[in-house]
Amino acid sequence: MKTAIHWFRRDLRVSDNTALHEADLAGERVVPVFCWDEAILRSPDVGGPRVAFLLESLRSLASNLEALGHRLIVRRGRPEDVLVGLAAETGAGAVHANRDYEPYARERDARVAAALGARGVAFRAFKDSVIWEEREVLTGSGGVYTVFTPYSRSWRARAVPAPRPRLAPARVPSVAGWASEPLPASASELGHPCDVGLFPAGERAGLKALDEFLRGRVERYGTGRDTPSDDGGTSRLSPHLRFGTVNVRTALERLGRARASVTTEVGRRGCEVWETELIWREFYAQVLANHPHVARGAFRREYDALAWEGREEWFGAWCAGATGYPIVDAAMRCLNATGWMHNRLRMIVAMFLTKDLLVSWQRGEQYFMQRLVDGDLAANNGGWQWSAGTGTDAAPYFRIFNPVSQGEKFDPQGVFVRRWLPELADVPDRFVHRPWDDPGRRMARSYPARIVDHGEQRERCLRMFKAVRGAVEA
Ligand SMILES: Cc1cc2nc3c(=O)[nH]c(=O)nc-3n(C[C@H](O)[C@H](O)[C@H](O)COP(=O)(O)OP(=O)(O)OC[C@H]3O[C@@H](n4cnc5c(N)ncnc54)[C@H](O)[C@@H]3O)c2cc1C
Repeated sequence: MKTAIHWFRRDLRVSDNTALHEADLAGERVVPVFCWDEAILRSPDVGGPRVAFLLESLRSLASNLEALGHRLIVRRGRPEDVLVGLAAETGAGAVHANRDYEPYARERDARVAAALGARGVAFRAFKDSVIWEEREVLTGSGGVYTVFTPYSRSWRARAVPAPRPRLAPARVPSVAGWASEPLPASASELGHPCDVGLFPAGERAGLKALDEFLRGRVERYGTGRDTPSDDGGTSRLSPHLRFGTVNVRTALERLGRARASVTTEVGRRGCEVWETELIWREFYAQVLANHPHVARGAFRREYDALAWEGREEWFGAWCAGATGYPIVDAAMRCLNATGWMHNRLRMIVAMFLTKDLLVSWQRGEQYFMQRLVDGDLAANNGGWQWSAGTGTDAAPYFRIFNPVSQGEKFDPQGVFVRRWLPELADVPDRFVHRPWDDPGRRMARSYPARIVDHGEQRERCLRMFKAVRGAVEA
């Protein structure tokens, strides 16, 4: 019997899944497998919120597969060993997977392909997590884009492929003798206790989140996306796109349908801006794929020489939400308590860590990976390097957000800030982002004083960047 293994990684769904669909076409029997890879579980970039989301998504995947007569085989070990073993047990002639562009994943997949190849089993990898990968969207002279706007123009000039068909019901029952580990009861059992509430996980929850967003909220996205206190202002789809419980093709197809029924200019604009954000995701995926050094250092290599002079205790205060700057502290407390942070706040806290506290972007990048439910190397790295001014399409080094005016602009009544900082409950709106100026001194004494002065740190930051630029230009 022709058998193909489908190896699930960041594509935890049965609908619109390229490699899974191809496996179904290629063989009479599809053997779905998930492998707990110790190398990933031990990585310092992995944290509880993400592992918990992954685990719940696997539970949902296992039950969706079961409803179709398939059984998810779960194993633990080095992927090459697990897959070679399973191929021998099942008599599979091929292992299918969707491509992952992270440096570790590429190296792992090369090892897996070699190990399978040596035993006459094919490894077939497919494009799936992005619409256009690596070197598909190129400049007129055949180079890869490093600036977003022209990239997005070229991206938009191409027709987006349609979603793939859903996995068909199994034609042959799974063999009971193929061993499978039960899914752990919690992320703690995998060494990553999750101390935040569970983000709705799995394919059904992802599609529901997508549909609810597209049923109206997307129409105010053009303006609402920059208001951190508006819980419905953005889609909250990032963990689903990260783990592939929703695919970007499906998201774009449903966006297209929603857009067709929008009647207002504002609504159409909302749809267009949301599409742009999905293109940012693709942009950073191709930056990582084409410039893998960004995973370890600055995109602009000269900035690896920046002499970050921030103090360890400043980093600790930033992590804990105790810098004395309300918008920064509220954002960090929100992240620590929920595994989530609004995009505007990510930019503010990232810029504050790097340009006010003068702590290297890599420290913040890693903290985000440990705490975020949607932590994704490409998008996170892109966001941090953008904020630090070291990246492809970065904010120039001299653009430094003022945390007070950012707070006043995007949270004018302090609704978001007060939600996370009860110490500021009695401070009038006018002073909520600079409570030290409140003549009534209504901020609770437990709220920390500012650990640095923004104006002074700004000057230091400019000197730090100029020292490197001077060395390069000299
Ligand atoms: C410092 C920093 C770190 C970040 N870390 C991550 C991360 O680890 N994982 C992650 O998915 N996003 C990251 N982002 C991008 C962005 O903040 C989140 O994707 C977004 O807040 C997720 O919320 P949403 O799903 O409601 O997004 P929406 O506003 O509804 O956008 C839809 C989707 O587009 C994608 N997207 C939106 N903005 C961006 C962006 N700037 N870059 C890349 N993709 C984008 C996401 O997949 C998102 O789900 C980071 C941004 C910054 C500034």
